[in-house]
Amino acid sequence: MKDRPLLMIPGPIEFDPDVIKSMNQPGKGHVSPDFIEVFGQAIQQMRKVWMCPSGQPFIIAGSGTLAMDMAAANLIEAGEKALVISTGYFSDRFAELLTRYGADVTMIAGPLGHVPDIEKIEAEMNKNEYKLLTLTHVDTSTAVRIDPEPFGKLGRKYGTITVLDGVCSVAGEEIRQERWDIDVVLTASQKALGVPAGLALMIVSSYAMERFRSRETAVGNYYVDWNNWLPVMNAYESGKPSYFGTPPVNLVYALKKSLDQILEEGMETRFERHRKLAAAVRSALKALGIDQLPENDEIAANTLSAPRYPTGIEGARFLQEVNKAGAILAGGLHPEIKNEYFRIGHMGTVSRGDILVTIGAIETGLLKCGIDFREGSGIKAASEIFNT
Ligand code: PMP
Repeated sequence: MKDRPLLMIPGPIEFDPDVIKSMNQPGKGHVSPDFIEVFGQAIQQMRKVWMCPSGQPFIIAGSGTLAMDMAAANLIEAGEKALVISTGYFSDRFAELLTRYGADVTMIAGPLGHVPDIEKIEAEMNKNEYKLLTLTHVDTSTAVRIDPEPFGKLGRKYGTITVLDGVCSVAGEEIRQERWDIDVVLTASQKALGVPAGLALMIVSSYAMERFRSRETAVGNYYVDWNNWLPVMNAYESGKPSYFGTPPVNLVYALKKSLDQILEEGMETRFERHRKLAAAVRSALKALGIDQLPENDEIAANTLSAPRYPTGIEGARFLQEVNKAGAILAGGLHPEIKNEYFRIGHMGTVSRGDILVTIGAIETGLLKCGIDFREGSGIKAASEIFNT
């Protein structure tokens, strides 16, 4: 019997048992032939998941923030201009981080829950020469999803390097890095990739690598300097060991296993599964009379949802009741409205059954908190989506 609630937060997620089992590798060092093969294969599989056949993958120990650091440290020199498109807390983090490397940062944000107008962004790029443009595919603090494709084209048009924070999207949301001309797509292991926290990952385009090679100053962060990691990635990919910093051996085994599973499912099927899971959650919430943070469904993430608490409910108590009824959800994160909404993760290994359990737990939470709603209407709405 599974006597624990389901973990339905937007990362870390529920992990597949085979992914967890694959980490059980006692006595494996970073130069063991078996590990060299696994590392090399994981690097190659990333190109398929990111859909970026000619890009340069990086896999290093760290969290998603370190991946952001790596992109910023290698691609910005002091005094260069960076344009940050903000759709929430994590986009704002990119602005703060870029400033540490001396970037001259301009931020464009729409109202909370909206994506800023692309015309406004293009006008800004026309006016000033930007070295870097960052966008957050899914901002986990708002569940707002950006369509990255037009931004990749815009980057090419103006000679600007585009960096996509895909921490809450890679292996869940549709990404075609190479076709969309996105220069860097970065992520972390604990979200839709379905691997325990501890890996920072990214793929870098040849254009961004070229710009990196023409830097005038040294990278201001020793650990993330691509000059240190590129020989390591190249060596492992060609079946040889190499060392700069000790790789997280056991996590790389888990990554390889998870990438096997992701590619076995197939990217198109996986994107569609996430769309369906999200549509079911949104439909259930609507039936329960619960609003969401994103302005509309077209810009709502498929990897998580951000519903507003019903009027009159005490958020912390509601989440506790939902937990007791079988699902762990997350509270709000955006500092301006932290106590007005909650978050449901639905990425990676999440199944239709998990969604129904979660909606059922939400209904129980509403009931326990004395909210007036039509019992069963959430489950019915979600089931209808699954049955279409
Ligand atoms: N960007 C986004 C969109 C995220 O959701 C997160 C983590 N929630 C991060 C960056 C930072 O990742 P980490 O917590 O792994 O450092």
